[in-house]
This record gives sequence, C-alpha cells and structure tokens, in this order.
Amino acid sequence: MNIGLFGGTFDPVHRGHLALARAALERCKLHRIHFVPANIPPHKQRQPLSPFIHRFSMLVLATAQEKAFVPSLLEAPDEGGAPVRKDRQEKPNYTIDTIRRLKQSFKASDKLFLLIGMDAFADIAQWHQAEALFRECEFVVASRPGYSLADVANALPESLRPRPEVTRPFHKQAATGDLVLPGATIHLLGDLHQPASATAIRQAAAAGKPLGRFVDAAVAEYIRKMGLYKSSLVVGR
Ligand code: ATP
Repeated sequence: MNIGLFGGTFDPVHRGHLALARAALERCKLHRIHFVPANIPPHKQRQPLSPFIHRFSMLVLATAQEKAFVPSLLEAPDEGGAPVRKDRQEKPNYTIDTIRRLKQSFKASDKLFLLIGMDAFADIAQWHQAEALFRECEFVVASRPGYSLADVANALPESLRPRPEVTRPFHKQAATGDLVLPGATIHLLGDLHQPASATAIRQAAAAGKPLGRFVDAAVAEYIRKMGLYKSSLVVGR
C-alpha cells in the first residue's frame, strides 16, 4: 500500500491542509494518510501553541468524512496519568523518529510518502537527519506560485543537491511534475489555490470574524465552543 504521512502543528487544521492531502491522495494513489499533529514541533518551539488535545480534536472533526484520512497520535504527549520522564518532557517531535515508528507497522510492500508544503520544504535541509528522511520516503510537495524546479532542487540537503550547472535550466521551469534525483524522489503538486493559513485563521477568530471560508463547519464550531484563539498572544505568533 502507498501510505502518506502529513505532519504539522494543525493549529487549526484548515482547507489548505485538506486540499494538499486530497491532491496527494490522487496523485500518488495513496491508500491512507496519517495526519500527525506534533506535540512539540521542532520548528515552532518559541511560539505559543494550543494544547495538543484541541489540535487533535479538530483533526478528528476535519477528517471524519474521509475514509482515507486518519488522525494520528504518533506524536502525542505522554498519557495524562503516566509519570512524565523529565528527559521526554521537552523533547521535540522529529519527523525521522515518527517515520521510523510508523514504519514498524509496515509490510514489506508498503511505501511511505511524506506530505509537505513548499514553505516548509524550503527549510528541509535544516531538519533533523534531513538526508535520512529522503532515504525513508518519497516527498509530495505542494508548490506555491513563484517557485521554480530549481528552488525545489536547491532546498535539498547539500549531499543530495544537484550541482548548479544541472539546476540552471530549471530556473525558468515551474515546480510541477516529478523530480527524481539520486537519493531523492519528489512529487510536485501544482498550486492548490487554497491560500488558507492557520495564522490568518487565529487572527480572524480573535477578531470574531466568521471562519467558514478557511475551515470545515465542525472545526469552526469547535473553535467557537472552546473559545480558542481569543488571546492575542496566540494570535500574534
Ligand atoms: P501557521 O500559519 O501557524 O504557520 P500553517 O497554516 O502553515 O500554520 P502547519 O500546521 O504549520 O499550518 O502546516 C502543516 C503543513 O501544511 C506544512 O507542510 C505547510 O507547508 C502545509 N500547508 C499549510 N498551509 C497550506 C496551504 N494553504 N496550502 C498547502 N500547504 C499548506
């Protein structure tokens, strides 16, 4: 089976995330996509974040109607009652560890695809064990207008990055299609035309604006009921 892994903060999950997942499902013939909210995202540690339970609950609501979309607890905090080991308390959730944990349940014929937006992919070389990520899975990247194929290739970790004379002709080529390089396979989804961002949604919620344009009705209702994103601290991150 082709299995997708989609990590993020999902604070909250929105239409942009769902559009990416649907496009990846179709493009790579995925059978299932695990949506994995990070308890402690390595890249957003200085920003205030809604509690994991709210972010996970919203994912449950947003994925309920899609058989192939699975809300995942792979990066959940330690269980409420269990004593929290001090060394585990602050440990960020590295994607490479999550991938290896997920793969423990894989059959030999299963194949893993990592779903990611272009803004996050642009920093992929800085991720923990970046080269290993490309060994473990193929990437599905949602591009944005203005990005070229060369931008995608140049974002790769140095050891996987093609030489400048190889990428030069790619500068004028839009980031679509498949990029297959020694050590890295990247499937590029064209622009999804879903400019939603969690930051904009938190700001809209704080201003009391309707959220229906950005999130599913059930998620909008959850945000309202739980009074999420009212604090300007969270909004301003
Ligand atoms: P924030 O605004 O808080 O930074 P976000 O909207 O980017 O959040 P994340 O949970 O950080 O949401 O993103 C998870 C993944 O989804 C990342 O790989 C990101 O690039 C991608 N993503 C986010 N928004 C979109 C969108 N509108 N279209 C396509 N991909 C997206």
